[in-house]
Amino acid sequence: MNLVYGELSNLGERIKAIQPSGSIGIITDQNVAEYYLESCAESLRTFGYKLSYYVISPGEESKNGEVYLSILNSMARDELTRTDGIVALGGGVVGDLAGFCAATYLRGINIYQVPTSLLAMVDSSIGGKTGIDLEAGKNLAGAFHMPSLIYQDQSLLATLPEEELLNGMAEIIKCGILTGGDFFEMLIPKEDDMDIPLDEMIKKSAELKLDIVSRDPLDKGERQLLNFGHTFGHAIEKLSDYEIKHGFAVAMGMALITEISHERGWCDGDTRDAIIGILDTWGYDMEIPYSMEEMIEVIRVDKKRKGDSIDLIIPYGIGDCRITRIPIDELHE
Ligand code: ADP
Ligand code: ZN
Repeated sequence: MNLVYGELSNLGERIKAIQPSGSIGIITDQNVAEYYLESCAESLRTFGYKLSYYVISPGEESKNGEVYLSILNSMARDELTRTDGIVALGGGVVGDLAGFCAATYLRGINIYQVPTSLLAMVDSSIGGKTGIDLEAGKNLAGAFHMPSLIYQDQSLLATLPEEELLNGMAEIIKCGILTGGDFFEMLIPKEDDMDIPLDEMIKKSAELKLDIVSRDPLDKGERQLLNFGHTFGHAIEKLSDYEIKHGFAVAMGMALITEISHERGWCDGDTRDAIIGILDTWGYDMEIPYSMEEMIEVIRVDKKRKGDSIDLIIPYGIGDCRITRIPIDELHE
């Protein structure tokens, strides 16, 4: 995986080094297209690529089999070949869907991820997880397909709605807690310095993920650390019928697992106060509107469950989270 920072107007130049010529299909959504499709297309056109466009409706509802197949059919109609590529220009929805199209079209063509949302920049565009939703649940059909390029232009965040920024910020806070040290300190707003180094935090988060994924690409071990806050977070998302967005649910999940860790004596009071404090500072609601029983019921059917126990990421300290296998029945206590 190749993580590169640059301006959208220079995307073509970067792709040139990977795919010297041929066709590129751009998959994006209507919101992103309005702001950035022309600039993206122009940058590719300069380098002589033949372009085709697949613009979907914004939102998770588009991550389905019907939209997926219609894009594949259009790609075939446009005669994309094995040596052509796909640009995913958008947030996590576009990235997952476009990645899955690229993973499966002609058994796999190049995908160039150009994340435009904060969540996509720090998380979903990195690591090669692609997929679509099925009627029975989210991301139930998918494939690992590593991007040939992840191209990040942080200036695209200027048009991202505030709520989406906070949605992605939760993953950055997660990365800061996993890493500790300077990174965690960076998350604490300073009284005398209103300038929050968002650009630096994005880089650190993206690089942490890249690092972990490169050691554990298929999510069999260390990569699970990135699931800090996610077991309960996913359950909360599901129970809310996805009214509570991913980042906000993960924030609740991080707060809950931190409280559990403290109660069990795995982390001390300072660690708990630091984690709860940072989530509070950033304005996350940590009040979970569901009971433990409701969440456990959802976790029980979670696909990641290993028999009767589950791998939870437990904070022992800032910069010290550990994968811990716990019997589901013990969660009740
Ligand atoms: P996520 O990235 O949170 O997984 P989406 O792909 O659905 O989820 O993106 C969230 C929303 O933000 C979508 O409505 C999308 O169209 C919009 N969006 C993504 N990037 C930008 C941007 N740079 N400017 C404005 N809106 C954007
Ligand atoms: Zn996440």
